Amino acid sequence: MNLISIFNKYPDQAACIRHLEAVRWGDNPTCPHCKSTSIARKADSGRVGRWNCHACKSSFNVLSGTVFQKTRIPLQKWFLAIGLIVNAKKSLSSCQLARDLQVSQPAAWYMQQRIRVAMVASERELLRGIVEMDETYLGSGPIKGYHGACDEGQHADATRRTIMSEHLF
Ligand SMILES: [Zn+2]
Repeated sequence: MNLISIFNKYPDQAACIRHLEAVRWGDNPTCPHCKSTSIARKADSGRVGRWNCHACKSSFNVLSGTVFQKTRIPLQKWFLAIGLIVNAKKSLSSCQLARDLQVSQPAAWYMQQRIRVAMVASERELLRGIVEMDETYLGSGPIKGYHGACDEGQHADATRRTIMSEHLF
């Protein structure tokens, strides 16, 4: 899927949330904390996609327990980042991603790490539902080390996937 399709298909936060709910839950929305299906949308919440669980009394959204949890970056930028990373022929630098998405370089680096971990971990289906992912890409490719600045000459390539998986999941 190309970036224009992603941009058009997911024009705003609400569209992204709707899509994630469909991919993650289908017709059976479930509390991520206690797995109960006795849940209801929060009617009067100003925030999009908020749910209440009647069983454990928690409040959650579809992002709970995923790579997108608690992010302040608009979901459309996440979706575009996934598209950019999947489409990239070579490893994409966080500096390039920062320029493409108009986010800070640390934010781009963070997104990149989360997306790469999700590609090899338990959230493949969620990402696959966002863009048509190349099966051969899953689980391949080195993860670039964080070097803190947009100096293309100082890349320290390192395979950190295992370590990060342990930290994030
Ligand atoms: Zn619950």
